Amino acid sequence: MSSAEEFDVVVVGGGPSGSTVASFVAKQGHRVLLLEKESFPRYQIGESLLPATVHGVCGLLGVSEEIERAGFTRKLGGTFRWGSSPEPWSFAFAISPRMAGPTSHAYQVERMKFDDILLKHSRKLGVDVRENCAVTEVVEDGERVRGVAYTDATGARHTVSARYVVDASGNKSRIHRRAGGERTYSDFFRNIAIFGYYEGGKRMPAPKQGNIFCVAFDEGWFWYIPLSDTLTSVGAVVNREFAESVQGDPADALSQLIAKCPRIDDLLADAERVTEGVYGQVRVRKDYSYSNSSYWRPGMVLVGDAACFLDPVFSSGVHLATYSALLAARSINSVLAGDLGEEESFAEFDARYRHEFGLFYEFLVSFYDMNSNHESYFWQAKKVTSFADSELEAFVELVGGVASLDGAFVDAESARTRFKHTAGELERSVSQVDRTGADDATPLYQSEIMGSVMEQGTQMQVQAALGGDLDPADALFPGGLVPSADGLRWVASAEQ
Ligand code: FAD
Repeated sequence: MSSAEEFDVVVVGGGPSGSTVASFVAKQGHRVLLLEKESFPRYQIGESLLPATVHGVCGLLGVSEEIERAGFTRKLGGTFRWGSSPEPWSFAFAISPRMAGPTSHAYQVERMKFDDILLKHSRKLGVDVRENCAVTEVVEDGERVRGVAYTDATGARHTVSARYVVDASGNKSRIHRRAGGERTYSDFFRNIAIFGYYEGGKRMPAPKQGNIFCVAFDEGWFWYIPLSDTLTSVGAVVNREFAESVQGDPADALSQLIAKCPRIDDLLADAERVTEGVYGQVRVRKDYSYSNSSYWRPGMVLVGDAACFLDPVFSSGVHLATYSALLAARSINSVLAGDLGEEESFAEFDARYRHEFGLFYEFLVSFYDMNSNHESYFWQAKKVTSFADSELEAFVELVGGVASLDGAFVDAESARTRFKHTAGELERSVSQVDRTGADDATPLYQSEIMGSVMEQGTQMQVQAALGGDLDPADALFPGGLVPSADGLRWVASAEQ
């Protein structure tokens, strides 16, 4: 065994949560080692992103422009055939004033490319990234975690010591167990996902051609994610009670499910399933909805899927992964800088992470109630976020990942710059919505909610463009902490 190297932080896993936390800690000048068991680029599911990730976290990381240049499909919102309405209905991120203007979109990404960009960016920021290195053990010293042991590509075993170990190893690894507590699987979200890739699937008419399309059918629901002009990610999420639908050969099972869902079958009428390369396999995932009772212990913290995941329906996975990574980095940076005690700093991480997870949990439970119509989903979003001015706005903010009201995502300077562009864009988006409303003839576009939200949205953006106050970064609970001006640490709310 080689002698133990020393770092401030060792991160286990190079997915979006791992690279994000590593980058934010390295940005403060700390020594960070990231150990990834695979060689990047590697496959991962989770392709539909939210604006909060691509403009919020990626903006703070300094990688937004690179992501923009990568040529991913622009996602302006989502289209759903869901609930009691037989016709599809859509939402656009532009409806929320917080996301309007140049930030009113997200991307549909090939995760191999997206995750690779984030990991390379970590390297640029000084993180020591070692691929083909699998962590096998967490090193403890009494109550405290002190480091990890790992095996490199040659099979050699190494130990490293660190003041913090971050478990960002996703949902399949068992490292999270060393944080104490238990992983509790959701009784409600007990679904199985089966997914593959198609060349030549149809696209929705502009401006919705980049939207995620979610279609409920008798046994569950389908996602239809346009990854490029020709490549589409297609997956069925099936309730456990229909588990026999995904038995046997996965490719046959997926074809049979598609045949049961006429809208997806129609979109794929001229398409062929990819059968070679990384997209050639039909994959099955289950047991992915859980939360750990403990997200941290002295010397160790869990982020991303290592801590919790819910459900693919609103693309919350990469958002929760990168947002929790930012929260953890603030706590680590604050303790390493000597600003705050460990207990206080990580209590803030824990509270905010559970709050964001809880928002999505409560809302998605309602969303799965297929007997509701979409206006009640909006109502439910308002109930769980309880600050936005209208139901539709709350819904869009929640599904856009900005409901956390995090100051770093709505930082005053960049928001003012953004809002300067917005008045004109909003007007254009209203007329687009009107046009698509005519095609779809859904109640969404005819509802009073829509009209009043668009009007309110215009007023709020004009006010912001003229220098009106933006939301302050509120403490989540009395006496709680708020992000520092650079977004990378915590400070007491009175210091803001
Ligand atoms: P991961 O992306 O899993 O990365 C973990 C990394 O750790 C991997 O690279 C792995 O190789 C590495 N690792 C594991 N063990 C070790 C070890 N012992 N040592 C070193 N390295 C290790 N999210 C969305 O945002 N949008 C979606 O549309 C979406 N769709 C989904 C559909 C399905 C069916 C499922 C199950 C999930 C979906 N998700 C979606 C969720 C998304 O996949 C995850 O939330 C996201 O990938 C979590 O990122 P992460 O960095 O925490 O983990």
